[in-house]
Amino acid sequence: MNTIKTGPDNNRTAQCPSCGREGKAVNTTTLHSLVRADRQDRITDSKYLFCGSQGCDIVYFTMHFAERSDLWSGIKARNVINQNLLTLANADIWSESLTRDGSHVFYKEDLTVRVGIKEESPPRPICYCFNHSVEEIFDEARRTGKSTVIDDIKSRIKSDGCSCEVKNPQGSCCLGTVKPFVNEALRQFGKEVDETVAGTGHKDCCRP
Ligand SMILES: [Zn+2]
Repeated sequence: MNTIKTGPDNNRTAQCPSCGREGKAVNTTTLHSLVRADRQDRITDSKYLFCGSQGCDIVYFTMHFAERSDLWSGIKARNVINQNLLTLANADIWSESLTRDGSHVFYKEDLTVRVGIKEESPPRPICYCFNHSVEEIFDEARRTGKSTVIDDIKSRIKSDGCSCEVKNPQGSCCLGTVKPFVNEALRQFGKEVDETVAGTGHKDCCRP
């Protein structure tokens, strides 16, 4: 029954074990900065991925096994850990944050900050270095018909630098996330979108 291999030809997947969205790699530095102090000891040396789905409760997850109902039926996560995946001295603690298919996860409630892009209600922080929110972007667009957030972020990065890796739950520059919200806000209030700020590519990153 327990024939799962941990070799390179197994069925490991980088899709969120809850919503199925493809995860984005994030360094453990980010987790060490944003996971609640009393849950820091659950962070492992595994490679973590970030789930950006709105409404999904999982923020970080490790690579895990694709669903194999033939193999996993009736097996509890704790037994799987003990028998197949890892030898862990503190498996009892870890089992609280393991999914049925062996992914180690952190939920929204495990973080010290709200993950704005995953929330549906305010406050929805989106730029953690300079404290901008989705609400602010839409409010400014409604009041003034424009958005100064991207220029503000860029100019403050130049003068102050940024700390995306330790402040942003995505562990990377927020500009690629901010721009679609700015464009959506401008469109909603009938304004033209500046296509030069429409992209979400790497060029938008604040890193040199
Ligand atoms: Zn998810």
